Amino acid sequence: MYFVQSKRLSSIEGIVHGFADRNVCADIAEIEKHFELSKIAQLKQVHSADVLILNSVENHDDLSEGDALVTGLKAVGIAVRTADCVPILLVDDRRSVIAAVHGGWRGTLSEIAMNTVRLIESEYGINPSQLTAVIGPSIKKCCYEVGEDVASLFKERGQNSDQYLFDSRDSKYTLDLSLANKLGLQKAGVTDIEVIDICTRCNDSFYSYRREGRGVNTQLSFIALKQYARK
Ligand SMILES: [Zn+2]
Repeated sequence: MYFVQSKRLSSIEGIVHGFADRNVCADIAEIEKHFELSKIAQLKQVHSADVLILNSVENHDDLSEGDALVTGLKAVGIAVRTADCVPILLVDDRRSVIAAVHGGWRGTLSEIAMNTVRLIESEYGINPSQLTAVIGPSIKKCCYEVGEDVASLFKERGQNSDQYLFDSRDSKYTLDLSLANKLGLQKAGVTDIEVIDICTRCNDSFYSYRREGRGVNTQLSFIALKQYARK
């Protein structure tokens, strides 16, 4: 079962993770079995800034609305689904908590990555400097043109949007959504950040909303703490 892997996360013992492309089997049960996970929990993603904590598999409903999941449970995967939007996976240096974040332009605008880091800090007492974050395959600067309507929202927010929003042509702008999320993570205090340099629109192994349009399927990005105790 082939997944795109983060170099950084692959070097950390005690976790499993993967960024699926369109060739990975879509059967969640098979992926759970393959990685010996009791469940891979998901959410009904609604482009919000809402971060949910997964405290028990039994009480989790995959139809709960939100766009980021955080858990300290072992052998339980948490996942987001994307097709151009930015998947972000996080883990702390003691491997006590993990997070999976869905950052579309709306979530990015409302700083969902930073919200996730803040929640991990308040609920688990983990300093952001203890976190490793990986920004997965997503639409990159080469392919993400937005109109004045979206651009103006980022400009109005006034948080150094000139670092990731560039004039393109005819009142269009290029939005570097990966970089916007990276800057959000940095602002929250995360320093260890890997960006996987794969554009989902350029690379047709991946589902892409911009390339394939409405009704496009989505790829799964997941992370899990392994069952065995940390040494
Ligand atoms: Zn591209």
